[in-house]
Amino acid sequence: MKINIYIALSILIGTISFSKAGTIHVVTTTQDTKSIAEIIGGNKVNVFAIATGYQNPHFVDPKPSYIIKLANADLFVTLGLDLESGWSPSLLTSSKNRKIQKGSDGYVDASVGVSLMQVPSSINRAEGDIHIFGNPHYWLDPLNGKVIARNICDGLAKISPENKTLFEANLKIFDDQIDLKIKTWSASMATFKGAKVIAYHNEWCYFENRFGLKIIDFMEPKPGIPPTPTQLVKIIKAVKENKIKVIITSPYFTASSSDVVAKQTGATTLILATSVGAFDSIKNYYDLFDYNIKLLTDALK
Ligand SMILES: [Zn+2]
Repeated sequence: MKINIYIALSILIGTISFSKAGTIHVVTTTQDTKSIAEIIGGNKVNVFAIATGYQNPHFVDPKPSYIIKLANADLFVTLGLDLESGWSPSLLTSSKNRKIQKGSDGYVDASVGVSLMQVPSSINRAEGDIHIFGNPHYWLDPLNGKVIARNICDGLAKISPENKTLFEANLKIFDDQIDLKIKTWSASMATFKGAKVIAYHNEWCYFENRFGLKIIDFMEPKPGIPPTPTQLVKIIKAVKENKIKVIITSPYFTASSSDVVAKQTGATTLILATSVGAFDSIKNYYDLFDYNIKLLTDALK
C-alpha cells in the first residue's frame, strides 16, 4: 500500500515538474533561425523550421501540418521584411495561437536592429516586385547572425524568464564563436577582394559586403522575375567583358539559364547554400559559411 502511494506520488510529482520545466516549443520560418534558436535555447527548446534549407524562402507551400506546429508553439521566429510575406502570415492566422501573433511576447522578428541594405525610397508591388522593404537576405552576413541571436535570446527570456541566465550565456558562446570564425572566413576571402561575380537572385548583398565580393549583375532582371532572353544576352556580354569566373546560384533555381551563360563564356556555375540544410554537410549556421567560403575560394583561385 505504502509502495503504491509512493509510486503514485512520484508520478504526480514527475508530471508537475515536467509541465513546469516543460520544453519550449519554437517554430521558425527557416533552418537558419532554427539553428540559432537551438544554440541559444539549448536543452530548453524544441525547434521546428517550416522551410527546408533547399527551398526558396520567398515561396513556400503552406501545409496543414505547419498550422498544427504553430498552434502548439510558444515562440515564433520570422526573418521578416517581405521574405516570408507570401505564406507565413496566413499560417500564423490559421493557427489561432494568440501567444505567437505579431505584437505578442511569443513573436520574434529577427530583423529588428539589422542595418538593412537596398531599402527602396518608395514601395512598389508592380510587376511582382519583391524586397520592397529592403533586402531581406541579411542572415548571409554572419555578423547579422549575432543580431538574430540577440532577438531570439530576448524572445526566449520573455516567455521563460527563469532561464534567462542560461540563454544569455549561450548567446555569449554563439557571439564569441562567430567573432572567432569570421576572422578565418575573412582571411580566406581576403585574396579575392573585389572579385567580380554574377548572381542569380539578389540575395547575396550582405555576404558580398562582408567578404568583399563584387556582384555586377543578376540572372533575374528583377528579384523574383525569371531570366529573360534579353537579360541572358546582357549577362553573357558582362561576363565576357569583365572576365568573370563565377556565377552564383542557389539550390532552388533552375540551372538551365546559368548553364547557358557558363557554356557561352567558360564561367563556372556555383550552387552556394543560402540556408542551413541546403546540403547534407551543412548542419548548423557556422557550417553555412564554412561551406560557401570553401566553394567560392576554390572556384575563384
Ligand atoms: Zn529575395
